[in-house]
Amino acid sequence: MREKERAGEKGSVIEFQSKLPQTPVADHVREILRLLGEDTGREGLVRTPERMEKALRYLTSGYSADVQKIVNGALFDVEYDEVVIVRDIEFFSMCEHHMLPFFGKMHVAYLPGKKVIGLSKIPRIVDVFARRLQIQERLTTQVAETLQDLLSPRGVAVVCEARHFCMMMRGVEKQHSGAITSAMLGAFRNNKETRNELLSLIGPRSQTI
Ligand SMILES: [Zn+2]
Repeated sequence: MREKERAGEKGSVIEFQSKLPQTPVADHVREILRLLGEDTGREGLVRTPERMEKALRYLTSGYSADVQKIVNGALFDVEYDEVVIVRDIEFFSMCEHHMLPFFGKMHVAYLPGKKVIGLSKIPRIVDVFARRLQIQERLTTQVAETLQDLLSPRGVAVVCEARHFCMMMRGVEKQHSGAITSAMLGAFRNNKETRNELLSLIGPRSQTI
């Protein structure tokens, strides 16, 4: 399946092909379990490789998702020039360094130009990029740039607060530290007053993650 993949640089879009692998993931999971010293024949593990493959395919289903199809024409010409905010969008993603979950909330705002987007589409766009192997910084940027491309708004702001299992369960083992990232485009980047006003509305409240 083909999809449009955002490249790191603003404005550039590259096509990339994502093919489902030929070799079943489950076979490799079984091998990993064996290498970890598990008895893959014991009752609790017999179907685990297949379950894990199914879970992994779901958690990475964003690779084959098509933003245009999801938006499905829900762009409307509306005269509205105040900020639109969708706050506290829950997301679950997996860090690309450890393949462990990170999860939290995303707050998305834009200042419409000529178009607005159906509000329910915004969480679905978040899921497209969350259901991939990610780093929080790129996830935040991709959501912002996708809205920029779709709507040509006067500004887009995305603030993301998340907790990372790779920090909580291993490594530094800090259970209560969250990471906050943001992407500001257009008026939210160029106008300090606009940005500050927005941050007071959607600003990070990390104690709520
Ligand atoms: Zn990690």
